[in-house]
Amino acid sequence: MQHFNDGNDMTCDVLLIDTLSTLRVARGLISPAPVVAQMTGFLEQAEISYEILFAIPQDDGSIDLLQENQVVSNRFDTVLKEMAPRTVVFYHDPELVHLMFAVYREVRKIIPDALLCAGGILSSALPHYYLEKGFDYIIGQDVYQSLISIIQHIKEAKMPDRGLFSISQPHQDLDYFPFIAQKYFTAIKPQWGFPDGHIERFGLITGSAGCTSGCVHCPNSSYWGTTWRPMSAARIFNEIKFQHELLKVDTFYFGDINFLPNAAIQNDVIIPHPKAIERITQLDKLLDEHEYAAKFISTIRPDTISSMADYLPEVLDIFLRRFAACFLGIESFSEEVLAGLKTPITKKIIRRAVKLLEQQGIIIVASFLVGSPWETYETLRETEQFILNELPPSAIPLLNIMTPFPGTRFYDSLKSKGLLLERDVGLFNGQRLVFKHPVFKEEELEIRIQEFYYQFFRERYSG
Ligand code: SF4
Repeated sequence: MQHFNDGNDMTCDVLLIDTLSTLRVARGLISPAPVVAQMTGFLEQAEISYEILFAIPQDDGSIDLLQENQVVSNRFDTVLKEMAPRTVVFYHDPELVHLMFAVYREVRKIIPDALLCAGGILSSALPHYYLEKGFDYIIGQDVYQSLISIIQHIKEAKMPDRGLFSISQPHQDLDYFPFIAQKYFTAIKPQWGFPDGHIERFGLITGSAGCTSGCVHCPNSSYWGTTWRPMSAARIFNEIKFQHELLKVDTFYFGDINFLPNAAIQNDVIIPHPKAIERITQLDKLLDEHEYAAKFISTIRPDTISSMADYLPEVLDIFLRRFAACFLGIESFSEEVLAGLKTPITKKIIRRAVKLLEQQGIIIVASFLVGSPWETYETLRETEQFILNELPPSAIPLLNIMTPFPGTRFYDSLKSKGLLLERDVGLFNGQRLVFKHPVFKEEELEIRIQEFYYQFFRERYSG
């Protein structure tokens, strides 16, 4: 167990800090970043001493810690000084950028001599911004190879110049990944808490990197690439077995940005990636052979589900049996907006995918992009009505404001037209309108989304 006050020597070469959303932890959603979890495996493999902290910034500027799933206040300062890390690594997803910077500022004050490194989509796209803010190194892609290499340089006192540090990796699959370290799971137990009090704990698997779709606005594919690099079924099975025995869980969250991507569109037919089809089929077989009732949580597109229903029903059947919950990238329920996004997804496809998942009792975390350049009051109303009237009762809608994330083609296009409003990267978190919109004013969308969430949760949970 990771105790902070037992007098043990906790000094380490590297401290990983994963910033958690204050709001989500308060609701029992403990969803740490799979990339940080995976980093622990690489550090352990390289025999580098490390610790990991889960930081929860509060409105008053203080930082709470999550220790064995309990929130601990007023200990951040002491724990950091006890650990006395030479290097601190912050990895964060864009949606948490403002929170990560709040943690970063405190760390800089408490241990001013430590070397501070940032990794993730935004820091890789705009390293100068992070360096101006005081970071020493930006860990570029490949994030794992770069992490280990920079730490080894620091340990050997062969520090490179401040800046972006990137080491590529030659592998086309993720089978060389070490397991997420056992030590990681002594610090945290990932879980979802439900309104009825049920708590679902789960393991974490880094099942693939990249997504073939390469959508113009997608920061994930601009960071992880448009080649889908999978971990094989056998390798996944071995890690499932390890985590099942360690954590006694049957549910596994796959950190893939797309668990089952599309390979191509031929004659208007979506073709799911053959390697992904082969992988889920083999994985299902392995789990059955060993009588593991493992369930998955991951991300998929509605058009992939719809296509499998037509052309690969036996694979869809596996998918529907194996998934407990899935993140479904719906984006919008307006044909105008979907056409503007240049996606083959239509309202008919969305309805069909939602129905198939609902029939199987799979929880849908439906993600929407609000405020694209094609959004109007009418298109937004269509999406809101769909969420209120057609999403199943168990579904959770996530409304993000379409954000020109640095590194994407959407960002480049708006920048070249002089339409970007914000220069503070801390505001590029999917919760602000940061470009000049043809219809909506700056704060209008934020207010509308808040009001919509209020209406949605009032209707769903108070009858
Ligand atoms: S399908 Fe999803 S993960 Fe893939 S590029 Fe598009 S938005 Fe990104």
